[in-house]
Amino acid sequence: MTSPVRVRIAPSPSGHLHVGTARAALYNWLFARHHKGTFVLRIEDTDKTRSEEQYVDSIQASLTWLGLNWDEGPVFQSQRGDVYDRYVEKLRHSDSVYPCYCTPDELAAKREQQLADKAPVRYDGHCRDLTPEQRTSYEEEGRPAALRIRIPEGETSYQDLVYGEMKRPNDELDDFICVRADGTPTYNFACVIDDHDMGMSHVIRGNDHQVNTFKQIQIYRALDLEPPRFAHLPLILGPDGSKISKRHGATSVTEFESMGYLPHTMVNFLALLGWSPGDDREVMTRDEIIESFSLERVNPSNPVFDQQKLQWLNGEHIRRMNPNDLINALRPHLVDAGLTTPLEIETRWAWMLEVVTAMQERLHLLTDMVTQGAYFFTDDFRYDEKGVKKQFRREGAIDALKGLAQAFGNIPDSEFTKERTETALRELAESTGEKPARYIHPLRLALTGMTGGPGIFDVVTILGRARCLDRIQQAIHFIENLPPVEAESGS
Ligand code: GLU
Repeated sequence: MTSPVRVRIAPSPSGHLHVGTARAALYNWLFARHHKGTFVLRIEDTDKTRSEEQYVDSIQASLTWLGLNWDEGPVFQSQRGDVYDRYVEKLRHSDSVYPCYCTPDELAAKREQQLADKAPVRYDGHCRDLTPEQRTSYEEEGRPAALRIRIPEGETSYQDLVYGEMKRPNDELDDFICVRADGTPTYNFACVIDDHDMGMSHVIRGNDHQVNTFKQIQIYRALDLEPPRFAHLPLILGPDGSKISKRHGATSVTEFESMGYLPHTMVNFLALLGWSPGDDREVMTRDEIIESFSLERVNPSNPVFDQQKLQWLNGEHIRRMNPNDLINALRPHLVDAGLTTPLEIETRWAWMLEVVTAMQERLHLLTDMVTQGAYFFTDDFRYDEKGVKKQFRREGAIDALKGLAQAFGNIPDSEFTKERTETALRELAESTGEKPARYIHPLRLALTGMTGGPGIFDVVTILGRARCLDRIQQAIHFIENLPPVEAESGS
């Protein structure tokens, strides 16, 4: 790379950070980090009717959560009026633009006529070649003038860093407006001014902006400026092959955050949505991705957003985490669910490490800790219905639990270890001639309310002697008070 890399993400604050924009942000960030360049955040908030302050905050929060730190900005388009004025002035003196006096009503009428005639909808060139007299006469009428670009004949082409040589006939570009009658720049013009003024070397953005790129290249030409290099990213599709949208489920980064995905997973997953390292690596660290990233390896065909793969990847990243980091990642989910407090986590860190280590293998989502591990934190859980039928209603269930209460009760608190409790259970089974499973299953249901989970003796020791004995008693009481099966069936 000869000149320094300067790239940007330019979200419009009209909603939370969408996965498509997040992927574009990520690719820009990766490109900047790979080339030791600069990543800039620009907020495109000139459309007052669609921009909201809350989204400005939420977009920044999501980028920060993903770890996509920006080196400059946020730059707000709404605060750059002076810069735009300078370029508007420059453009006015260009031969490549002309004032257009057509009123909105006149334009709407032409448009309707074109639609009725099934003709392509575009500016009819009414003001393109006005004589000086005609212009003066419009001015005297007091008509405000917008500035339209005079698109030459021929075609516009550029070398896309993902799609290769791209071409478009110019008559499809239309003489579009660059500066509105009120003197403000339109979207494409503001974008060009900003990208040039902010020294962008590359513009990397979604393929939905292809048409804008051709128009923007014409603006660079009109201003006699060198355009940046362009790279377009393939659109992300839902499983049904249409562009990903709400219909397919979650689409904003905040949603994935609250569903229990790690920022790391999202980065890894989004990186692979259109790019691959060129070998079969899938689970990658941030540094590995930065190291291998290049625009040449962006695949032009549209990738499908595969939620199952996302979940799988999250499990993989959870398993690779240091348990201390995992506690930190789980904290907001456990606290939000009301299972614990930040202070409690802090003061019982060693115990939290045991819980996390027992569960780590089993988690796909961070929220699985809440749905599958609440019993570590609270006595307030229900017994799984099928489990009750199979384990608690079984002949001898009470005796098994009573036996366990006694066997565990005989172990002093200071010796209540995995080995001691396991030996106690196995000896009890042996003494009655039963299989250990006859004790383990009802014990698990009594302690956790569930029929599956981590190693039962891990659970036993993490809960501790007092809680185990209490829960076994609770279960015995529950079984003793179970209504007869006939009554349950509701006859
Ligand atoms: N505001 C545009 C968007 O959010 C940015 C397009 C661009 O990157 O140039 O899609």
